[in-house]
Amino acid sequence: MQKLEQIYEGKAKKVFKTDDPELLIVDYKDDATAFNGLKKGTILGKGVINNQMSNRLMAKMEKAGIPTHFVRELSQRETLVKRVAIVPLEVIVRNISAGSFAKRYGVEEGIVFDQPTIEFSYKNDALGDPLLNTYHALALKLATAEEIETIKNYAFAVNEVLKAFWAECGVTLVDFKLEFGKVADGSIVLADEISPDTCRLWDAKTHEKLDKDRFRRDLGGVEDAYAEIMKRLLDHDAQ
Ligand code: 5GP
Repeated sequence: MQKLEQIYEGKAKKVFKTDDPELLIVDYKDDATAFNGLKKGTILGKGVINNQMSNRLMAKMEKAGIPTHFVRELSQRETLVKRVAIVPLEVIVRNISAGSFAKRYGVEEGIVFDQPTIEFSYKNDALGDPLLNTYHALALKLATAEEIETIKNYAFAVNEVLKAFWAECGVTLVDFKLEFGKVADGSIVLADEISPDTCRLWDAKTHEKLDKDRFRRDLGGVEDAYAEIMKRLLDHDAQ
């Protein structure tokens, strides 16, 4: 499959057309940003890890009956995906308090919830991705009520599959962000990526952070953390 014209360059990925109008190629970069682009840097090798990890996790979602945009891995950094119209919602599922949840509600990080939470942000960099509820999403016509229901169901289903998988790798899934898209027939599929950029992943025993918080919070050992979490996945899948 040949890369044609670039149609988009985001913070962590570039997207190219192909000769099939329903298929695109995503090319993962090593660029890292945080705090709505205020903090910028490079995480060497991140693009390769996020591409390969996301593809393996997307394949697990498909196996569990959750439709995704994933078609096939083309190279270390490139993947063929279905063209989707991204639903402009960031869907965040949390199992444990951390990050903006801990800050917003004035609680410590690490509180294990009795049941997972879900929240939506309006995917809009100019506005700083403001939090919104389903009524706001409907008022802004970001999605239909039926689509939001489907997205919620898929997001919680992703949580169950991901949580169980990472537990088998000795990793606690704290929270994560998903994005969904609409394919040509109008159905909703999981899009974007599932990676240490978009998930909080803590070592189950030591609670060491194995994700992008090492970059966001200047904790050091960023590349090592990405390599370690990838190794856990590969070791698990090799068994
Ligand atoms: P928080 O709202 O606590 O900052 O983030 C919750 C979870 O969603 C974390 O796992 C974080 O990585 C992910 N997340 C939230 N917003 C973004 C975003 O704009 N980009 C990325 N890569 N991840 C995000």
